[in-house]
Amino acid sequence: MRNILCTSIASFALYTNTMAQNTQEFNLHVDRFADIEVLRYQVPGFEELSLQQKQYIYYLSQAAVAGRDILFDQNNRYNLTIRTLLETMYVNYTGDKTSNDFRQFETYLKQVWFANGIHHHYSTDKFTPKFSKEFFTEQFNAFAEKAFPHLIGDANTKTMLREKFVSVIFDPAVMPKRVNQAEGADLIQTSANNYYYSESEENPLTQQEVEDFYNAMRNPDDKTPISYGLNSRLEKLPSGALFENVWRLYGMYGEQIETIITWLEKAKTVAENDSQKHIISLLIEYYKTGDLRKFDEYSIAWVHDTQSHVDFVNGFIETYGDPLGIKASWESIVNFKNVEATKRAELICSNAQWFENHSPVDSQFKKKQVKGVSAKVITVAMLGGDCYPATPIGINLPNSNWIREMHGSKSVTIDNITDAYDRASQGNGFAEEFMYSAVEIDRRKRYGKLGDDLHTDLHECVGHGSGQLLPGVSQDALKAYGATIEEARADLFALYYLADPKLVELGLLPHNEAFKAEYYNYMMNGLLTQLIRIEQGKDIEESHMRNRALIARWVLAHNGANAVEIVERDGNHFVRVNDYGALRTAFGNLLAEIQRIKSTGDYDAAKALVEQYGVKIDPTLHAEVLARYKTLNLAPYKGFVNPVYTPVLNKKGDILDVKIDYTEGYTEQMLRYGKQ
Ligand code: ZN
Repeated sequence: MRNILCTSIASFALYTNTMAQNTQEFNLHVDRFADIEVLRYQVPGFEELSLQQKQYIYYLSQAAVAGRDILFDQNNRYNLTIRTLLETMYVNYTGDKTSNDFRQFETYLKQVWFANGIHHHYSTDKFTPKFSKEFFTEQFNAFAEKAFPHLIGDANTKTMLREKFVSVIFDPAVMPKRVNQAEGADLIQTSANNYYYSESEENPLTQQEVEDFYNAMRNPDDKTPISYGLNSRLEKLPSGALFENVWRLYGMYGEQIETIITWLEKAKTVAENDSQKHIISLLIEYYKTGDLRKFDEYSIAWVHDTQSHVDFVNGFIETYGDPLGIKASWESIVNFKNVEATKRAELICSNAQWFENHSPVDSQFKKKQVKGVSAKVITVAMLGGDCYPATPIGINLPNSNWIREMHGSKSVTIDNITDAYDRASQGNGFAEEFMYSAVEIDRRKRYGKLGDDLHTDLHECVGHGSGQLLPGVSQDALKAYGATIEEARADLFALYYLADPKLVELGLLPHNEAFKAEYYNYMMNGLLTQLIRIEQGKDIEESHMRNRALIARWVLAHNGANAVEIVERDGNHFVRVNDYGALRTAFGNLLAEIQRIKSTGDYDAAKALVEQYGVKIDPTLHAEVLARYKTLNLAPYKGFVNPVYTPVLNKKGDILDVKIDYTEGYTEQMLRYGKQ
């Protein structure tokens, strides 16, 4: 599970970190287009690592970018060919680069890079190109053979291909959404991802068939079930039979997986310890066989390795891209421990049982023994696949429920990423526009970053790790509502405890008022400002956003004006919190209900809550928020370019050092990765 930035503003904390002060070439802001701002993150502490650790990170970072094409293909089956075509047009274009068509074309290409495909990374709606079909046709005719050398001399195929691309790129009715969650639709047939496939268009694969296929595999008595279907595409043959095309060496994505394995083999030779070597061996074995039992073995070994300084994720991990939550997208993240900041997270984790025992949920839904929750704060060194360029700020893995229950989970928050967000939000006018008064703005300045960090720590390391399912309840019982309910559960756990005197007692918050910064921000975001990420007329789709709307609106509806209300001033609406204590009580009440839903697998209740509070938007309020936001001229989404690591070699080819460089631009990096 991942935690993505919970506010569009990050926070307004004064930037006191000295990280960037003595490096002149470091530019935080890299690029800006459409609704996106691309930033750069620093890797403080890299220079101080040992040569062996630097080499280890270098090899892992190569493995982290080697799977990029897998994700493009998973997101949509035309993504890779479209990217190849667009990049060929872009680098060979000789016309007027100041023309509107070319500039819009460039923006579109940047959007495709950012989203790893033709659908928005967050809303999953297909992009609307703003360059003309005529421009596209002209460029296609000029460069198609260059992009696809097999086309030479085959005019018919070229025409067919052009028509296909025009329809996929320009026709809003063709594959409009990557992940469709709309109630009542066949979620498989209406989602444009590439996790499910039928050879015949007349005989498509249906949601019912997929559900039946995987339900038949599951054995309710199996205490240690594999994650069925996690690493394969489910395909329907012309005969109507279904089969899993497994992602493994010599299987689907075999070429990319081979490269990943090559880099992992190198990494193994410079690993810090035997535990890491064992983990890498298991991962390679899994990549070779596609055996999900092996993946579980790997996950267990990985979760127990809490002592290593360098760590990484590389594989098919998160299932947000599949409306049924079965298939996992490829991702990688390479990191090392931020020792100082980790002390904060460890303090929370070492009190996990206390939090579990004192939570407001029914005792039958609590874990009697919270096992092995470990948390650390990390410095990210490389992002790949579904973590790039849009990045989570926290991760909690593995996702398998029984492994989490028997072996615990590893939870991380990513400090150099939140730090970059924080710096990018300095003085951008957002707080002044949307916060109720100077009191909230001031509180946010003082405690904003701290509150955000603690929220993330609590969400990841005790929130997701808390609670238990009743015997016989399936992990997938809540189906399409499962992800939203799970995120709500972790958020509510965090919110409930942010206001607990225990945090002050532990020295995590300076005094009993500091939590108010995060409470206010959460309510403002859930009720108003997260709407800036959604187009007028659309519903809330993404599960983290649904969860935030659900929590904020449920609390608003169940507490009248006692705790919180929306007030109008000069035609603009603001969130006003009247009673922070009552707000905490409301969070606690909702937590108890959400945990009951999760523990008992109450699908109907999950559906009712999400549909009532998490999906629809008041169009008038939405229009107002969008208009106010527009005047600030800010980008609602942010992502990152990676630094460039270059090994310094001697004549024999031994690595003497690894240099880190922060000067590569967004387009440069994307074109370079595309070539690799
Ligand atoms: Zn989460």
